[in-house]
Amino acid sequence: MVAPATSANVDAYDDFRKLWQDRDLDLRILKEPGYAKLNGLLRIVPAPKETEYLQALMAHPFKIGTTVEVRQGQKFADLLKFIFKGSPMLRFAGALVTVFLATTVPQAMAQEGKPLPHSDERYKADILVVVAHPDDEAAVTPYLVRALDEHRRVAVVFATRGSSGSNEAGAEQAAALGDVREIEARNALATLGINTVWFLSGKDTATQDVLVSLANWDHGETLEQMVRLVRLTRPEVILTFLPGAFIGEDHGDHQASGVLATEAFDLAGNPAVFPEQVAGPMKRLEPFLADLRPWQAKKIYYFPDADREDIFRGKGPSYSVKEVSRLSNKPYWRMALDAFRAHQTQAKSYLDKIAQMDEAQIERMATSEDGWGEDQHFVLGKSLVGGSVSGDIFEEITPGAIPYARPEAVPEPARPELSAELGGPWSFYAEFRRAHGLGNLPHPEPPEIALEGPGTLVIPLWVRNQTAKAQEVTLSATLPAGWTTANGSGRFTVAARRTAAARVEVSLPALPDKTEKKTVAQEVTVRAEANGQVIGEAKLRVELRKRALPE
Ligand SMILES: [Zn+2]
Repeated sequence: MVAPATSANVDAYDDFRKLWQDRDLDLRILKEPGYAKLNGLLRIVPAPKETEYLQALMAHPFKIGTTVEVRQGQKFADLLKFIFKGSPMLRFAGALVTVFLATTVPQAMAQEGKPLPHSDERYKADILVVVAHPDDEAAVTPYLVRALDEHRRVAVVFATRGSSGSNEAGAEQAAALGDVREIEARNALATLGINTVWFLSGKDTATQDVLVSLANWDHGETLEQMVRLVRLTRPEVILTFLPGAFIGEDHGDHQASGVLATEAFDLAGNPAVFPEQVAGPMKRLEPFLADLRPWQAKKIYYFPDADREDIFRGKGPSYSVKEVSRLSNKPYWRMALDAFRAHQTQAKSYLDKIAQMDEAQIERMATSEDGWGEDQHFVLGKSLVGGSVSGDIFEEITPGAIPYARPEAVPEPARPELSAELGGPWSFYAEFRRAHGLGNLPHPEPPEIALEGPGTLVIPLWVRNQTAKAQEVTLSATLPAGWTTANGSGRFTVAARRTAAARVEVSLPALPDKTEKKTVAQEVTVRAEANGQVIGEAKLRVELRKRALPE
């Protein structure tokens, strides 16, 4: 079979280069106006016979302008024969070709090569912190000071600019408050010497529901930004809020920052994800393709935003904040508090009070009442380089890139044909832990939430009917005394082979004791029954509070 012919007219430099590249050769071409000179480097080691031809080529001036026909599969030597056809008469042409064999003059060629730009070392981080709002960094600054003492490079990403909430320092609200808070966060970190700080386009969202936060952040857009910053900063370790739903402040935005950081940990090393970020430039001053490289971080650790501590114990390293920094000669907690002084819009009254105190008073108040003296606890999300669960964050981390690691997803549990289970953020987190191989991530069982009373508790449910016929399902709630079902109980039909979203709404009473800020958590159960059998139960521990973020 005759292979299709391709022809190339070598009167253009690019054609000539292409011709050679097609043969697995790499020619670097130097253009000089008015004087055509090809200055090439051959990267292959040619067969002996081809070497002869190359040597011959070096000795012969060669006219550009010869039409060469190349057949696929043609031997390199044959190609050169084509080029040489009629070469004696080309001697006096105004163009010269000089070809150097890399194997004969490697040093000379290495010196002539023009260096390609590489990643900017100023933005290489050992630790990338990912949080939601300005002042969230305070959750981890005592550890960051220790890390700076150990000469670690730290970069911080805020997913929002914190443009909601009260302003204790001035009149600015909404977007203007975000403008102020961005500067406060930059100043707080600059106090510690951390200047590589970025803000994503997420919007401050008053919710406990991570799904609402992610929706309001334009999840895809912020994830793209997050992955880009991982590729830019090439962190060894990512530190972020624990993605989970707990009784606590449990801000939906805090959870969402942990979700985004985890997703970026698992995606940034994959060249097929946001490929425009890792594509090389196609032109000078390339305006679209970012020329970053994929990056696989080695470990991810979480800090929980939960009231309870029991389920996190022993799940990661702990650090005392009372040791004295070599950089400042102050305890780590004190440096963290100094940095926090930038957050006037969020804590002016507290900071003014501290400004009136002497050093001994500050230490007593900050370390005994305000939690600045407490050890910092982390939860190991995953390590791709080994090390022990509660060992140092940098245990087993050595310089250099590691290969991309596809997350090992945990298979979905088998379900009966007819089932009901808790939905909303709770079922999302179950999926999330499976998808990212975070089987060991602590989560409360039964799930829990703190809500304002009086108010409404919404219990989202998935009702799955994989049978071949429609099914009657009855939902009922078992509630603490004084709590009532407002909506969503009773009989429903779920069509054949359908999954339906249902929700039961419970009216929550006021707190029985008006002097208390919260009650003891109580259990709520929603039961789903069909054909006289229980097909699923959703349990929640619910704490009533005077104030809480909306569900
Ligand atoms: Zn926050």
